[in-house]
Amino acid sequence: MQLPSTLLENAVNEFAKLPGIGKKTALRMVLHLLKQNANEVELFSETIAKMRREIKFCQRCFNISDSDICAICANRQRKQEMICVVENIRDVIAIESTQQFNGTYHVLGGVISPLDGIGPDQLNIASLVHRIGEEKTAEIIFALSPNIQGDTTIYYIQKKIQHLPCTVTTIARGIAFGGELEYADEMTLARSMANRLPVQQYVKS
Ligand SMILES: [Zn+2]
Repeated sequence: MQLPSTLLENAVNEFAKLPGIGKKTALRMVLHLLKQNANEVELFSETIAKMRREIKFCQRCFNISDSDICAICANRQRKQEMICVVENIRDVIAIESTQQFNGTYHVLGGVISPLDGIGPDQLNIASLVHRIGEEKTAEIIFALSPNIQGDTTIYYIQKKIQHLPCTVTTIARGIAFGGELEYADEMTLARSMANRLPVQQYVKS
């Protein structure tokens, strides 16, 4: 893409680094900013710089936070003895949006994936194991993606905490609500059969 200004080109290249943004979209965004008045664009860039500079990660659960301990960990109304283990912050946001979970979280920062060079040491696993022992956690709920990496991670953590007296569960895996049974893949259908629920429990949820 031939651009008439290096300044413009630099800005386009920065936007194009964002996920899902190609050069054309980046150019459209930059040209849009050029139409705004200078103060607004200052505010835009300062908001982003300030977010990056000042945002913190909760020291207990690694969720994003404005202070050392996040709002979820600081909330005494929530079941502090229950930990939902997730891969990333987007998962926390997704589960919070359901308004169905009243415990706390632990953000691993990824899952074990030897092919991508991600081992347990690169993830917040040691802190989780330490936390469960220290806080005498009653229940751990694994809410990880249903794939080999997710299962490997569950297996690894489960081995590390099996000596501790906490209940370990995982979110149900099965046919998506509104999905058609005949189109489900064999693995999903097999898991749904294996993890079947008493109807009374199903109707309640
Ligand atoms: Zn927290």
